[in-house]
Amino acid sequence: MKQPVIALVGRPNVGKSTLFNRLTRTRDALVADFPGLTRDRQYGVGRLGPGPYVVVDTGGLGEPDDVTYHHMQRQALRALDEADAILFLVDARVGVTPGDETLTRELRQRGKRVWLVMNKIDGVDVDVAGADFHSLGLDRPRAIAAVQGRGVRQLMDAVLGDLLGDDADTADPDAETGIETDDEDEAEDEAPDRPIDVAIIGRPNVGKSTLINRLIGEERVLVYDMPGTTRDAIRVPFERDGRAFTLIDTAGVRRRSRVSDGVEKFSVIKTLQAIESAQVVIMVLDAQQEISEQDAHLIGHTIDSGRGLVLAVNKWDGLVPENRERIRRELEVKLGFLDFTRPRFISALHGTGVGRLLEEVAHVYAAARKELSTPALNRVLEEALTAHQPPLVRGRRIKLRYAHQGGKNPPTIVIHGNQTDALPDAYRRFLINRFRQAFKLHGTPIRLELRTGE
Ligand code: GDP
Ligand code: GDP
Repeated sequence: MKQPVIALVGRPNVGKSTLFNRLTRTRDALVADFPGLTRDRQYGVGRLGPGPYVVVDTGGLGEPDDVTYHHMQRQALRALDEADAILFLVDARVGVTPGDETLTRELRQRGKRVWLVMNKIDGVDVDVAGADFHSLGLDRPRAIAAVQGRGVRQLMDAVLGDLLGDDADTADPDAETGIETDDEDEAEDEAPDRPIDVAIIGRPNVGKSTLINRLIGEERVLVYDMPGTTRDAIRVPFERDGRAFTLIDTAGVRRRSRVSDGVEKFSVIKTLQAIESAQVVIMVLDAQQEISEQDAHLIGHTIDSGRGLVLAVNKWDGLVPENRERIRRELEVKLGFLDFTRPRFISALHGTGVGRLLEEVAHVYAAARKELSTPALNRVLEEALTAHQPPLVRGRRIKLRYAHQGGKNPPTIVIHGNQTDALPDAYRRFLINRFRQAFKLHGTPIRLELRTGE
C-alpha cells in the first residue's frame, strides 16, 4: 500500500513546521542532505488522523523579497508535483497578504487539490478572519490552531477521506500483473507462509541495486516486470530456502538507464513509503564511506516506525583490516546501539554474507512476533531489579512489580508499578536491553509501557 503524500505550503511563519510536528509527532524530520536538493524541505510520516501518510514541509514560499526566493520556489514547487494533496496554510491573525495571492496563482496552475487552511485561530473570531480569505477564490478555509492541535484531526479526516475516495477508482497496479498484494488485513499479516516484506534502503551508491540483483539473480524470480511511476518503489517477489520474500526496491533497479545521477535516484518520499510498507528494513551502509547523519536519521526513523531493522554493511570486500576496524568503531560511536542489532558485513558484488543477511531478516521478523511468556518476563524483570535497583524519587524508591506482554510486532512489554512516570530514560533503556538479551529480540524495536497502580 502506497501512502499518500501531503505537502504543506505557505508563507514563512504561518505555522507549517508546527503543523508538521503535530502530524508526524516528531521534531526529528528527515531532511534530504544531498547536493542539489534543498535542505529546508522536511519529510516525515504522518500518523494523526486516518494515517499513515507522508508529510512534506516545503519551507517558506510566496514571499518574494529574498534573493534565494526563485531557487527555493523552484525546489518547493517540485515538491508539490510529488504531492497527492496540498495544504495551503494562511495566518488568521495576519489576513491575506500579497504573498498569499502569489502563492494562490502558483497553486492554481498546478491543478492539484488544494486545501486552504487558516491557522492560528486561537483567540480570533473564526468567521471574521475566514471572510478575509474569500478574496483568494479558493474553497472555504478549514480553521485550525496547530499549536494546540485544534481542528487538525478533522482536517486530516477530510483530506485523507477525499484521497481514499479518489483512490478507489484508480486500479491497483498490482491487480493487472496478478501479483498478490498485501492489504492491511491483520489476519493475512499473521499467516505463516505470507511473504516477508523487506525494504532495501540507503543512500545512493551504497549498493542497493547490486544487492537486489544479487538476491533475485540467484533465486527464482517470480515476476519482475511491473509498471510504475517514477515515484513508486517496485516490489519484487522472490523465494529463498523455501521462504517467500517481497523486496521493496527504492533504488529503481529497473530504471537505472533512465536515471542520470545519484541525486535523482534518491527519494526521501519513496524511502519513507518503503519503510512504512515493510515488515523488515535492510539499511545498506557503504563500508568505504563514513556513516552520515542521514544514515543515522533513516535508522532512527525505521526504529521509531516499529519496523525490524537489519544493518547491511556493504563493500566489505577489499577493505584493509584497519578500515574494517574504523567502520566497526563508527558503528559503535555514531549509531551507538549495537546491542539492538547485529550488523551483517557483506559484499553485494561478490555475494559474500548475503545468505546470512536473509537469515537475519527472517530472524528479526520472527523476533518481532515472538510470544513472551509472563513467568519468563517476570523472571527477567526480577533479575534486572536485583542487578540494578530503580532510583529513589522524592525519597521513595520507584517500584516495578510485574510484567506481561501487551502486544506484538513490535513486542510491547507492560510493567506495572508505582511512580513509573519518574523512571529515568536510562533505566528504561537498561530494562529494554535486559529483555532484548534474554529473549534474543535482536533487530526489532521493543516498546515498554509503564503503568502506575494496579
Ligand atoms: P513556518 O515558518 O510556517 O514553519 O511557521 P512555524 O511553525 O515556525 O510557526 C511560526 C510561529 O507561529 C511560531 O512562533 C509558532 O509558535 C506560531 N504558531 C504556529 N501555529 C500557531 C497557532 O496555531 N496559534 C498561534 N497563536 N501561534 C502559532
Ligand atoms: P545504489 O545506488 O545503492 O543502488 O548502488 P549500486 O548498486 O548502483 O552500487 C553503486 C556502486 O557500488 C556500483 O559501482 C557497484 O558496482 C558498487 N558496489 C556495490 N556493491 C559493492 C560491493 O559489495 N563491493 C564493491 N567493491 N563495490 C560494490
